[in-house]
Amino acid sequence: MRVNMDFIPVNEPLLNGNEKKYLCECIDTGWISSEGPFVRKFEDKMSTVAGRRYGIAVSNGTAALEVAVQALGIGEGDEVIMPAFTIISCAMAVTKLGAVPVLVDSDIHTWNMNVDEIEAKITAKTKAIMIVHLYGLPVEADKVLALAEKYNLKVIEDAAEMHGQTYKGKPCGSFGDISTFSFYPNKHITTGEGGMVVTDDEKLAERCRMLRNLCFRKDIRYVHDEISDNYRFTNLQAAVGLAQLERLDEFVERKRAMGKYYTGQLKDIDGLILPVERTDYADNIYWVYGIVLDKQIEADNKTVQKLLAEEGIGSRTFFWCMHEQPVYQKQGLFKEESYPDAEYLARKGFYIPSGLALTTEQMERVVMGVRRVMGRI
Ligand SMILES: *Cc1c(COP(=O)(O)O)cnc(C)c1O
Repeated sequence: MRVNMDFIPVNEPLLNGNEKKYLCECIDTGWISSEGPFVRKFEDKMSTVAGRRYGIAVSNGTAALEVAVQALGIGEGDEVIMPAFTIISCAMAVTKLGAVPVLVDSDIHTWNMNVDEIEAKITAKTKAIMIVHLYGLPVEADKVLALAEKYNLKVIEDAAEMHGQTYKGKPCGSFGDISTFSFYPNKHITTGEGGMVVTDDEKLAERCRMLRNLCFRKDIRYVHDEISDNYRFTNLQAAVGLAQLERLDEFVERKRAMGKYYTGQLKDIDGLILPVERTDYADNIYWVYGIVLDKQIEADNKTVQKLLAEEGIGSRTFFWCMHEQPVYQKQGLFKEESYPDAEYLARKGFYIPSGLALTTEQMERVVMGVRRVMGRI
């Protein structure tokens, strides 16, 4: 039996910069709520990283998507095109408003949405396309933006996994009408929980600020013309975020080095499909280091993960497809729909420890563990 200390967690964030110092400043000054001065600073800095004029920090990446979709005026019966293979936050932001997610299959190589399938899904009800960059490589945004222009659609960009990534040299988070980030601990920049909406449109930004804060009327406090949530972001979160952002370049470089190391060590193992290192428009930043089991392997991701756990190695499955979510099936959504590449990724994909605090010694152990497990199945 292994002692628990030996277990390599799937993610551990790196918090050894100015995080503690800025947090102490919050405590010493008494500024711990969303009114504190770090919030605006973090919004300014993060929106600059994304190449946007306005940043609106919210309580998490899911809230950021909800605010962004609602701010665009998407509602009852509207259709929003998005990948079948993504986190449920994307679909929830749409279904919560009574709108309908319309799904497209994945590109089996990049694991992103297959943008060539979008046009066939556009109907008179389509209001927007949601770009979701997954696992470290950006979606081919130009193709989506051209379609949006042609059919007069809005574009929401979910850049939750893309801090510091670029597409054709332009920052992720700068595409379309509105973009969102998450600062969950497994993202390149973390605030524990946290998220942000970024945009260049002043009116949209103002609307997002209202939506994150209960839609208080500006002229009279505690009077409301519409319903929204409390998605405020605290000064404590912003303190951590500012310290993290100071090291964004270093973090991206570190993630790329980890990706390169893993690929170098794992590429000769039969049955593993490893992340694509680069496409014509970007180098992978390895949000996490994903692995997909090849067709010749009969086992699914969960079987391999169980064996990895026995080796003391944490891992996590890929996302589960939207059309296979019990909650949506119960509602009669996505009946008879099938997205074979997305389904394949969901069953055969998982990721191995790839947090920023991971040591070289731990990575060596992960590689040996993967090798042993693949030898056993
Ligand atoms: C993490 C993530 C989210 C959700 O962010 P939370 O902060 O966990 O709510 C949304 N979209 C994508 C693509 C993500 O990876």
